[in-house]
Amino acid sequence: MEIKILNQPGFAEVVSCFDPESGLRAIIAIHSTKLGPALGGIRMLPYADEEAALKDVLLLAKAMTYKAAAAHLKLGGGKAVIIGDPVIRKTVPLLHAMGQFIDQFQGRYIAAKDAGITTDDLVEISKVTKHVTGLPKSMNGSGDPSPWTAIGILEGIRACVEEQMGRNRLQGLTAAIQGIGHVGFSLAELLHEKKVKLIISDTNPELLQRAQKVLHAEIVSPDEIYSVKAHIFSPCALGAIISDETISKLQCSIIAGGANNQLADEAKHDQELAKRRILYAPDYIINAGGLINIYARDILKENDSLPRIQKIHDNLIEIFHIAREKKIGTAQAANQITETFLESLPLNR
Ligand code: NAD
Repeated sequence: MEIKILNQPGFAEVVSCFDPESGLRAIIAIHSTKLGPALGGIRMLPYADEEAALKDVLLLAKAMTYKAAAAHLKLGGGKAVIIGDPVIRKTVPLLHAMGQFIDQFQGRYIAAKDAGITTDDLVEISKVTKHVTGLPKSMNGSGDPSPWTAIGILEGIRACVEEQMGRNRLQGLTAAIQGIGHVGFSLAELLHEKKVKLIISDTNPELLQRAQKVLHAEIVSPDEIYSVKAHIFSPCALGAIISDETISKLQCSIIAGGANNQLADEAKHDQELAKRRILYAPDYIINAGGLINIYARDILKENDSLPRIQKIHDNLIEIFHIAREKKIGTAQAANQITETFLESLPLNR
């Protein structure tokens, strides 16, 4: 296995590896270990080249530091990427080589699942290294994080409704959910239980039919979801969906969903939403439920992660308060709180 240290300003460790036998090409980026070991998913994608993979892993690793710190977890931020199409290139020897690569960090990086990697892949990786989270419940692992992410989003929606509408009951409100996959469907179930009317979009017709049948949701096309009349817009599919193109279409007063990096241009669109009096729940605050569950169950070995996940509500209330006082956007307020906290800590361990 050929290992290369890639020094990157502002990052604790960035290392690439090439394993000629299995064909593994991967990068692990540890942004920070100030609060604890760097936990973050492994993403496998057919990146155009190593530069594109490096750019992605650096952004994702830094975002994990912010997510963990903002959720008050004793975790740093890190991420791993494997360069290659998971459908064609993913083999057992490649996953074992990835396990060996992870093991070299001796627990400074702890792996989890991300795009292109399944729970079965994590099981394969765990045969080579113990520094893996999110294993199946049958192996005493914390299992799929998505239902916990959805519980956290529901807490976040409650905070948004309190702040924006001065009420604490969700019954009778309408939510438009973009993407009815693992997170979106779990969230839709929770909102349906609270008697929230659902409007949904997805590119997968089977998932739409299931949601229509079980949850009596109204289906609209992927383009229409931005402009439907709903109190809450919940992006649970892709990043960068709040953009110059979509922002003027929005009819909601709250954006609260699970997708990562929802604002195409964070500073610009954060301000624009504030100007339009649309309350935005910063993504890395509201979608932390899955990470919190992994931390509680796999790292601390706690039985119940719910009390920690429910704190997402209070975290958002604090952010909204600061944004209102300082007359800034909510994304800026979240970053200010998180960065001030991170800067107050001693250097990386
Ligand atoms: P998923 O792949 O299960 O679901 C995404 C869904 O979005 C799919 O059903 C897909 O068909 C749909 N989709 C794709 N393009 C679309 C479009 N243009 N319009 C409407 N729907 C579209 O993924 P997931 O695990 O549910 O994650 C959803 C988002 O939440 C991702 O951005 C992910 O990074 C983020 N996230 C997930 C978790 C988690 O616990 N799974 C945690 C934090 C953040």
